Amino acid sequence: MLDAAERGVMVIEADDSNGSVGLGGLPDRDGNVTLDACIMHGDGRAGSVCFVQGIRHPISVARMVMEQTPHVMLVGKGAEQFAREQGITQKPNTLTDAARAAWQKWLAEKKYAAVINIENHDTIGLLALDQRGTMAGACTTSGLAFKMHGRVGDSPIIGAGLFVDGDVGGATCTGLGEAVLRTLATHLAVERMRIGDTPQQACEVAIKRIIAKNPSWRDLQVGILALHRDGTHGAYSIQPGFTYAFNDEVRTAASYL
Ligand code: ASP
Repeated sequence: MLDAAERGVMVIEADDSNGSVGLGGLPDRDGNVTLDACIMHGDGRAGSVCFVQGIRHPISVARMVMEQTPHVMLVGKGAEQFAREQGITQKPNTLTDAARAAWQKWLAEKKYAAVINIENHDTIGLLALDQRGTMAGACTTSGLAFKMHGRVGDSPIIGAGLFVDGDVGGATCTGLGEAVLRTLATHLAVERMRIGDTPQQACEVAIKRIIAKNPSWRDLQVGILALHRDGTHGAYSIQPGFTYAFNDEVRTAASYL
């Protein structure tokens, strides 16, 4: 399941045309693409990296933190050093043409506000469940476009951007990280499923909590997905237009070849 979660989001990390995940992401206000990612197994193991630069697959480094260190989270230069020690090549932190053009357009106005509109977010969160009930999840992002240098959102924070408990289910969020951080929305959703909510009810409770705690909720977007270990799922968002994919096709190992 960890392979499914990691490899699923690696597809998006590798796509430089995506402006909100991986090295093709939109930069911070100083022109740096800084990446956050986390991975969690249903047995409670978790790994995370924040504020890494020049790393093609931050999700893989997050998994290495989980599997090869006694820690859950590594940040910035320490995370990059660890990645290099694991044989990962750190690239120069350059911008794609599209990201540079968007940044230069932003620089012309330099309107900085810690809010997100409903167009400029799209972290990927993936929840995976196999036929034996084993669960895992992954979440990876370049974060809020034109954020302050050093800003970390919800995506690499266990319980905020992602939470998985194999006894219950998992949840993952996209949208304005600050709003998710204040409510630990994915942890909330999983705990709601633990006490009997369906995944859909759990997602609605989490989004309603975010709305209740953010007077400016009309100006921001958060979307949440939840997957119960029984295979049912739910999704909810503050604003319309939150799309997600669900695949319950049962595949044999051979069909992945
Ligand atoms: N949740 C991400 C963050 O706040 C942004 C996004 O979902 O696009 O960093």
